[in-house]
Amino acid sequence: MSITTIKATTKVITKATSSVSFTELGLIPPLLARLAELEYQLPTPIQAQAIPSVLAGRDLIAGANTGSGKTATFALPLLQQLFQEQGAKKSLSSKNSKGNYVTELILVPTRELAKQIADSIKSYAAHFNGEIKTVAVFGGVSANTQMLALRGGTDILVATPGRLLDLISSNAIKLDKVKTLVLDEADRMLSLGFTDELSALLALMPNKSVPKRRQTLLFSATFPEQVQALTQELLNNPIEIQVQSSDASTLVQRVFTVNKGEKTAVLAHLIKQHQWRQVLIFVNAKNHCEHLAEKLSKRGITAEVFHGDKGQSERSRVLEGFKAGDIEVLIATDIAARGLDIEKLPVVINFNLPRSPSDYMHRIGRSGRAGEVGLALSLIDHEDYHHFKVIEKKNKIRLEREQVLGFEADEVSSDSILAVGKPVAKPEGSGKKKRKKKASVNADIWLRSSKSE
Ligand code: AMP
Repeated sequence: MSITTIKATTKVITKATSSVSFTELGLIPPLLARLAELEYQLPTPIQAQAIPSVLAGRDLIAGANTGSGKTATFALPLLQQLFQEQGAKKSLSSKNSKGNYVTELILVPTRELAKQIADSIKSYAAHFNGEIKTVAVFGGVSANTQMLALRGGTDILVATPGRLLDLISSNAIKLDKVKTLVLDEADRMLSLGFTDELSALLALMPNKSVPKRRQTLLFSATFPEQVQALTQELLNNPIEIQVQSSDASTLVQRVFTVNKGEKTAVLAHLIKQHQWRQVLIFVNAKNHCEHLAEKLSKRGITAEVFHGDKGQSERSRVLEGFKAGDIEVLIATDIAARGLDIEKLPVVINFNLPRSPSDYMHRIGRSGRAGEVGLALSLIDHEDYHHFKVIEKKNKIRLEREQVLGFEADEVSSDSILAVGKPVAKPEGSGKKKRKKKASVNADIWLRSSKSE
């Protein structure tokens, strides 16, 4: 397998370094008109590099930071190809029937992402006079409505794997004519949790190597090694595009050491002190969401929760409320970590560290999107020190440990302190445990993130 690697240097959208225009990428007038309306002035680096290859029919592995404009990178070429094909069919007077087939399939891990992508595609297709049909299907809502929507087939289907398999078994849709398969958040789609469902779906699609082969596009912010091996089975001579974030990243990451048992107090203090009006807090378990919301409520902060045990209508209500700014504090599990585009979300907080280092990148990527300034905070107590080091190593970052004024963390074991590069403490029992006041941080620490606002 030969892989061409292209490296770019920035993810800042509004100041894209490439001078190439959307017209030069070869996009057609109805798309160009829509992009102008959406005030997309220049392609983002991933768009500039990937769109010509996707239009040329190449398979693609795209590693780009979340918020870098990935949706348009696959959506615009898909729409263009469909529009041109449909135009060609009409000129040959052939019947434009879709049967109950789909030709462009986008698989995603979460319901909210499915809806978000379908909405973006419909928006990009605004000047196609309704000629392209896009449907989103996902669990948690009635399958009947989705079956009705799929009647007569669809051009583009955005789906979560489980619900798609259900709809296939009810004969609501067939995958035999899939021409393009997009795996968004591909590392998640190729991970253990989805393996069975994904293999079942792949078995129903045309093979990657038959003459009229399927084009496959993989998008993700992170590609762990075990996933890279699987991609070889899925893709045919792909082009690989890796857009790396540079120091010019608009997302500021910070990590605060706190005493065990003081995380909630520190969190409440920070929210109040900085009067954050839109903050997304990640915890590791569904019931932690409710617990933390209760504890914050006792400290005068109203928070809502977002996790997989909530019904779909509740999930939608909460997400819409948060996006609109009506809900100021949202506590969520990792179902909110991927792909969600919350415009100008200023602050993301890891109350618990994610188990997987790549989930750290997905979580913090909810902020600092599309070139906006963002802040990602992690609160770590001494039990988290080692795991945070692993997260830093895997993600090739190194953050200075900071403390919050009035909540300075006690020195703990020498191991932990060594693990974060601090001076070695005296051995246990060699003296009274000291509450060491380090160079504490005050309101000025936020300047780095607020200066450029
Ligand atoms: P995505 O990474 O696809 O979730 O996109 C993140 C955000 O960037 C979305 O709000 C898009 O509407 C926006 N966006 C995508 N491409 C561009 C562009 N070329 N110029 C400006 N904004 C864009």
